[in-house]
Amino acid sequence: MTARRTALDIAESVKTGALSATAVLEENLSAIAARESEVHAFNLVTAERARARAARIDADVKAGKSVGRLAGVTVALKDNMCTRGVETTCSSKILAGWKPPYDATVVRRLEEEGAVIVGKTNLDEFAMGSSTENSAFGPTRNPLDTTRVPGGSSGGSAAAVAAGFSTVSLGSDTGGSIRQPAALCGLVGVKPTYGMVSRQGLIAFGSSLDQIGPFATTVADAALLMEVIAGHDPLDSTSLPRAAPDLSAVLAQGVEGMRIGRITDMPEGSSPDVLARLDTAFDALRKAGATVVDVQIPSMSYGLTAYYLVAPAEASSNLARFDGVRYGLRVDAKDLNSMYATTRSAGFGDEVKRRIMLGTYALSAGYYDAYYGKALKVRRLIADDFAKAYQDCDVILTPTSPTVAFKFGDKTSNPLAMYLCDVFTIPTNLAGHAAMSVPFGTGEAGLPVGVQVLAPALGEATMFRVAAELERAV
Ligand code: GLN
Repeated sequence: MTARRTALDIAESVKTGALSATAVLEENLSAIAARESEVHAFNLVTAERARARAARIDADVKAGKSVGRLAGVTVALKDNMCTRGVETTCSSKILAGWKPPYDATVVRRLEEEGAVIVGKTNLDEFAMGSSTENSAFGPTRNPLDTTRVPGGSSGGSAAAVAAGFSTVSLGSDTGGSIRQPAALCGLVGVKPTYGMVSRQGLIAFGSSLDQIGPFATTVADAALLMEVIAGHDPLDSTSLPRAAPDLSAVLAQGVEGMRIGRITDMPEGSSPDVLARLDTAFDALRKAGATVVDVQIPSMSYGLTAYYLVAPAEASSNLARFDGVRYGLRVDAKDLNSMYATTRSAGFGDEVKRRIMLGTYALSAGYYDAYYGKALKVRRLIADDFAKAYQDCDVILTPTSPTVAFKFGDKTSNPLAMYLCDVFTIPTNLAGHAAMSVPFGTGEAGLPVGVQVLAPALGEATMFRVAAELERAV
C-alpha cells in the first residue's frame, strides 16, 4: 500500500490546486473496485454523486472561491445517518429502499466544508452489535485480515478507512461502536461528550447514549473532523450550547505534569497482549512527563448490565416507529394490527428483536422499577465513581477492546460473549463522557491494539493531547 494521505494533507493540497479533489476520489474508487467485493464496507457507493461534488470543488478552486477546511477529503458515512434522496437503511430490511427527505446535520456540515461523501457503510442492524455480523446485508470483513471481524457496530466505516476506500469516516457510538471497530482496524476513533455533536438525522438507537464521531488514520485528522462536526445545533434539543472545541491547537502541547489514571479494579478478561500494550502506553506517558495515579471505579463492572437495560429500553421505544406505515418495508395482512406484526417480524433481524423484547420487558408495568429504574441508579453510580476518580487524575487509560479482532462466528452463538466486547467502552456512554481509541502497536497475530483514553464531559482537549502523545510514542 502506498503511504496514506491524511485529510489535512488533502485539504491543504486541494485548496492550493496542487491536487485535485477528483484525483483523490478516483484513487478511492479504484481501491473500492479492487477490494470492496471482498471487504463489503458499503451498503451503497455514491460514485456519481461524489464525482459531481469533486468536480464542483475543483471548479471552485480554479475560480478562486474558498472551498472549506475539508476540501476534497473523502468521507464514508455509517448508513444510519440520513442523506437526502439517498437510501438510508441501518442495514435493516425494514428500511430497505427508504430515502430520507433531509440531510443529517453532520452531513450538511461536512459538505459545507468541501468534503466528498463516497457512500453509506454497513453496520450491525440498527447499530446493535460488536462485529457487523448482524447486518441484514451480510458482514463486513476486516481489511487487515479478512478472516476476522472489523468490530461493530460501525464496522463498515472502520473498514472503509482501513482499506483506503475513503480518507476518513463517521460512525455512531452508543456503547462503543466507534471505539471498538477503530481498535480492531488500527484507527483513531472518537466518542464525543454527549451533546457535543448533533444527533439530528442520526436514526436513534439509544437516544440518551448515541453520539456521532469520526474515524481517522491520525489524531490530527480526528481533531479536524471534530472541529467541523461538533458545535451547537438548534435542531437537536440535547445539543450543548457551545461552539466546537479547538482541538488541532492542543495536539503539540504534550502531557508534562498531567495525571493519568490507572483503574486498579478494572473488569477482568482482557488478553495478555492487550494488557501489555496498555502497560507500554502508561510507560510512554510517564516518559513524556506525566504521572500515573491509581484510581478505582467500583461500579465499572456493572456498566454492561445497566446498559443492556437502558439501551434496549430506549431502542424498544425508538424502533416502534418502524411499523410498515411510514417507512420502508410493508408486508400486507388482513388488518392493521396484523400488518404491523407481519412487517416487523419480516423486517427486523434476531438481535433487534431480542433488544426490543428485552427493552419492552424492562419498561413494563411491574418490572419498570426493578429493571429500568435500577439500571438508572447504576448509571448514576458510575457517573459518581468517575467524578470521584477525576478528582485525582485528568484522564484514564484502559484497553478499548479486551482482545484484538476475532474470527467470524466466534461470538455469534453467545450474545453475552459479544456484549462483553464493550465492557470498557460502555461506562463512557452511560456517564455521557468523552473517550477515544488510539492505535498503539500490535498484539496477537500482528493485529492492532487500541488504547482507550477516557476523559470527563467536555474533556476533549485534554483527551486529544494524551492521544497525540500516544501517537508520537508509537
Ligand atoms: N455493541 C453494543 C451494542 O450492541 C454497542 C453498540 C453501539 O455502540 N451502537 O449495543
